[in-house]
Amino acid sequence: MESEPAGEAGVARVSVLLPYPLLGAFDYARPETLALEPGDIVLVPLNRRAEVGVVWDAPVGLPPDLAAPPSRPVADAKLKPVAALLDIPRMPESLRRFVDWVAGYTLSPPGLVLAMALRTNASAPIPPTTGWVRSGSNSTTARLTPARQRVQQALVDGLPRNTAELARMAAVGTGVVRSMAEAGLLMEVVIETPSAFRRPDPDHQDPVLSPDQERTAEKLRNLVHARRFQAALLDGVTGSGKTETYLEAVAACLAEGRQALVLLPEIALSAQWLQRFVRRFGVEPAVWHSDLGSKRRRITWRAVAGGEAQVVVGARSALFLPFPDLGLVIVDEEHETAFKQEDGVTYHARDMAVVRARLSAAPVVLVSATPSLETLANVESGRYEHLSLAVRHGGASLPTVETIDLRDHPPERGRFLSPAMIEAALDAMRRGEQAMLFLNRRGYAPLTLCRTCGHRIQCPNCTAWLVEHRARRQLACHHCGHTEAVPTHCPSCNAENSLTPIGPGVERITEEARETFPDARILVMASDTLPGPNAATEAVRKIADREVDLIIGTQIVAKGWHFPGLTLVGVVDADLGLAGGDLRAAERTVQLLHQVAGRAGRAEAPGRVLLQTYNPTHPVMQALIANDFATFMQKEAAQRRPGNWPPYGRLAALIVSADTAEAADAAAQALGRTAPRGEGLQVLGPAPAPLAILRGRHRRRLLLRTRREIAVQPILRSWLHGLQLARSVQVDVDIDPVSF
Ligand code: ADP
Ligand code: ZN
Repeated sequence: MESEPAGEAGVARVSVLLPYPLLGAFDYARPETLALEPGDIVLVPLNRRAEVGVVWDAPVGLPPDLAAPPSRPVADAKLKPVAALLDIPRMPESLRRFVDWVAGYTLSPPGLVLAMALRTNASAPIPPTTGWVRSGSNSTTARLTPARQRVQQALVDGLPRNTAELARMAAVGTGVVRSMAEAGLLMEVVIETPSAFRRPDPDHQDPVLSPDQERTAEKLRNLVHARRFQAALLDGVTGSGKTETYLEAVAACLAEGRQALVLLPEIALSAQWLQRFVRRFGVEPAVWHSDLGSKRRRITWRAVAGGEAQVVVGARSALFLPFPDLGLVIVDEEHETAFKQEDGVTYHARDMAVVRARLSAAPVVLVSATPSLETLANVESGRYEHLSLAVRHGGASLPTVETIDLRDHPPERGRFLSPAMIEAALDAMRRGEQAMLFLNRRGYAPLTLCRTCGHRIQCPNCTAWLVEHRARRQLACHHCGHTEAVPTHCPSCNAENSLTPIGPGVERITEEARETFPDARILVMASDTLPGPNAATEAVRKIADREVDLIIGTQIVAKGWHFPGLTLVGVVDADLGLAGGDLRAAERTVQLLHQVAGRAGRAEAPGRVLLQTYNPTHPVMQALIANDFATFMQKEAAQRRPGNWPPYGRLAALIVSADTAEAADAAAQALGRTAPRGEGLQVLGPAPAPLAILRGRHRRRLLLRTRREIAVQPILRSWLHGLQLARSVQVDVDIDPVSF
């Protein structure tokens, strides 16, 4: 399709979408000298500034339910001309249609979604990329610490690496690299092609697959070869070789000369994954996440657009990269809630990955040992193919799971580890194996209470308690980031020495463990104690090299790590995720605990998992003990089906927020009065939102629940259309909310 035909006055119009939360594309005049095609990246005037935009075409194949109302046409005489066509690869049609689709589905302005696809200063020039090689001179007298030796080791192949890459490969901080450069141990050179964009070699090192893995890999290769959309679930117990197997699909995609995208829930934690990729394909893939530097971002964006980056591993935002020839999408740990983006455009990357694949006529593989109920329902209905790996690789057995009933085996007063747990950890460590204590809570204690007056210290901005972080001597809100010094006197009754920490966080468990296991080498893994990927890489290396006996961590330790020496996993509070009214709490707890349990016994020595609980008969504990995830999920399904709860019905949340409780209530009630009615749909609420006050905003929630066949978008659009809101009031739409 070309730009629009000339209007009456003979002006050729072209529609340009700008990366701002405006409604739709704007019309501009096309200068005769510029031939423009949809997807071209152009500079246009907007409010006396030149802005980067994309020549947009009318959505093709967008379901009418998702189409936004058309914008008003502008008279020819008022049109401003396009200023310039930028020398940047055109945005492919599949990405343009994806932007339209995401905007329509999430009820977001298309420009806001486009901003995610242009999240790079696309027009800026790219300075030459440099990297480090070993300096030839041996005259330097600089000291070679073990860290420096690892850096030198990482450069033995003679390929230049940039600072971040080198630090990651050598598991050192970037400061080590810089100090080596200063000491003359490294030399800077200009890199022709950044190593991340060298072609991965599908035959670099072929794995020897088990017959089960090979059968599954063959099915995955066939999906890739079919060159059409198909979704598949790859499930299989932890350690069964799912990664190993899906890398064969990536190899097939590379052999076809097409691009592959692998989404991981937390890219910062992907060091082990990258190592495996390098082992399999000889080079690193392109990496994409929100912490990339702006230069790296620009280079990567263009390498994807130009097709040099053949494999991208990334966080959810990688879905918006301009792949010209996407041949495979993989979503690893597809059940993870980290795939849901909660700010700005609220979308679920797992679901949008399926859409992205469909619009690119490519297969998508969702991977998990504990698939979400959504995905299982799609398998059951026949929409998704089902592939599975039944046994752990190399004959490793699954860990045995037992509960410790805290009513019968209480910890000592003021402590949190039951004697049975302590004994089991000691046993493992005496055998020279590793143990892990898991508690999904950062900080020292989740609540600080005054013993004199009963006052609980709350966040001034949120309906949440402040969490003590003893190492930092702070109380912190985990929702808004507010921090304050730990007070010496009760803020309410002014009593001195009366404030007491209640309940454990991972810091407190560490304190207890240091006293209980004085000889153990302890490593703490929590997102706030391991800032950044290099710290995580170093922690993982220490564990793999057996420099650690006891690992204590939050959900960061549950990720797909492979720790061959780890045989005991102790869950300090297995009931933690089950409190509260969220219908999905049980599903999420099973997924998380199964994932943690899966870290144990991945090599020869069998693994053991102990769950400290007050509810040993709870279905979640029973499912984990029996390792019977399927039956558990069937029961979950049976509970959700009758009420049309997801995935058997559709759900959207409206979050109404305002400066004051009164304004929030008034707006929520007004929405309640105009709520849609009809067969197969229901509006629940208004009610206080799960965090009734967040960052000082008072929040109410309404839920729209419909039968599956009913699309919620047109209903919401007409409900919200023409809504008159007070100035301080905001309404946010969350389609498919993750908690309900
Ligand atoms: P999952 O993703 O299912 O948890 P992984 O793919 O991480 O399983 O595999 C678990 C471990 O077994 C990894 O260390 C992996 O390298 C190893 N492994 C799996 N399959 C093979 C194979 N066919 N050959 C060699 N090692 C394998
Ligand atoms: Zn707060």
